[in-house]
Amino acid sequence: MKKDFLLSVVIPVFNEEGNINTLLKELIPIVSTYEYEIIFVNDGSQDKTEEEIKVFAQENKNIKLISFTRNFGHQTALTCGYQYTKGDCVVTIDADLQDPPELIHEMVKKWEKGFKIVYAKRKMREESLFKTLTADFFYNVINMLSQTPIPRNVGDFRLIDKHVVELLNHMPERFRFLRGMVAWGGFPSTYVYFDRKKRLTGETHYPLSKMIGFALNGIVSFSTRPLRIAIYVGILASIIGIVGIIYAIYRRLFLPSAYWVPGWTATFVAIMFFGGVQLITIGIIGEYIGKIYSEIQGRPQYLVKEKVNI
Ligand code: UDP
Ligand code: MG
Repeated sequence: MKKDFLLSVVIPVFNEEGNINTLLKELIPIVSTYEYEIIFVNDGSQDKTEEEIKVFAQENKNIKLISFTRNFGHQTALTCGYQYTKGDCVVTIDADLQDPPELIHEMVKKWEKGFKIVYAKRKMREESLFKTLTADFFYNVINMLSQTPIPRNVGDFRLIDKHVVELLNHMPERFRFLRGMVAWGGFPSTYVYFDRKKRLTGETHYPLSKMIGFALNGIVSFSTRPLRIAIYVGILASIIGIVGIIYAIYRRLFLPSAYWVPGWTATFVAIMFFGGVQLITIGIIGEYIGKIYSEIQGRPQYLVKEKVNI
């Protein structure tokens, strides 16, 4: 007998034509043990992803599709998916089978015990050493800076209760670092563990450049401490500068000219040092101003081209 709650599954997809079939073959038997809906958010795919989903959606009204007019990004696709869910709990999962669907049972069990957030935590990554190391570095930095503790080694594969969904839907910010926003609410949370596999087919959409952008967004969205740090570095640099100035004047006034003409090294070092400090500081401030600007423009976060079964 099916349980009396609705499970929503949100899947953001961007050029995943090779994976839809296998994903649904694995996923449907698992979610069929519940009342369920599967919401695909097609984030501007250029390949056959949309057609493939539509074939499934025609036969099965529990499979729904929202298509964007273009690519708006993974976090935006998830955000949109959350807004359309009706479930009592919502699982978000990648389309490339890096996140094993069979874990959903375990997640639901923990949710039934009263946890509002169930993160799937990666025990091991079948990914490059480079990705593992950079991910570790990122979590160290963001946790040092952020007032909200950001859980480590959890991606966007998680289950959240409808109350958490409601909270997310009421957070109007445009730069959405969802794993931080979910943690921000302070709801009771727990983990299930899994080994992260390689992608079934296709390439990651997060190359290094995008990862860096994502990491910076996360930090800027969850902490204003870099601005503080900029002030401290500025103060430190000013102190060193004042010492330098006093020393230079002392040499100029009290030592014979042979000692103060060759001042090139000191000048050079000072210019480089303060130049560096100033550029970094301006850059940090710029990051925040850029965010403020985008938030103030208030453009829609995404545009929907088409909906199926919704
Ligand atoms: N994705 C998306 N829009 C994007 C990039 C990715 O909807 O701009 C989807 C993608 O189809 C996949 C999920 O987000 O289902 C995670 O992306 P990916 O597997 O490339 O990231 P990784 O697992 O390498 O971090
Ligand atoms: Mg992936």
